[in-house]
Amino acid sequence: MESLEIRVFGDPVLKRVAEDVHDIDGALVTVCDRMLEAMYQAPGIGLAAPQVGISKRFFVYDYGEGPKVLINPVIVDFDGEWEYDEGCLSVPGLSWNIVRPKLIHIVGHDLGGKEVSIEADELESRLYQHEMDHLNGKLLLDYLDEDEQKEAKKILRKMIMRHGSSIRPDPNGIQYFE
Ligand code: ZN
Repeated sequence: MESLEIRVFGDPVLKRVAEDVHDIDGALVTVCDRMLEAMYQAPGIGLAAPQVGISKRFFVYDYGEGPKVLINPVIVDFDGEWEYDEGCLSVPGLSWNIVRPKLIHIVGHDLGGKEVSIEADELESRLYQHEMDHLNGKLLLDYLDEDEQKEAKKILRKMIMRHGSSIRPDPNGIQYFE
């Protein structure tokens, strides 16, 4: 099976607020398998459905404890602040120090339809917050000031003109959440 294409900046699906998942079925299991494959290939530690053109509220991830899926996630609590150099394969080749809450409590469902409740810190917490943004049509660029945004868009447009939407940059120390 052909691997899924990861959408990059400029694709309107990345700006859309994704819709709730209503059925956790075999089709969703298959899509999640394919998304995990694309995520490991990239490589990244998370991949949200809108990044492969599916405007639905779920994401796959693996921060070192094996492949996992979170469906219809909701952040119910957060605390503290943590700055981290954050990258995204949909905004290829660039990363920024972004301040976000350090701790979060997130709830949702797994692929078996079971309720999940996770309290996460630092990198794991950052991963969930990054993927949640994708479900809400938000990209890293939305955290930058006007000048930083202009500069980033200039670089991205040039890269997209040269390479199209199939950009696969060398991660070079950038943490790609995807
Ligand atoms: Zn991302």
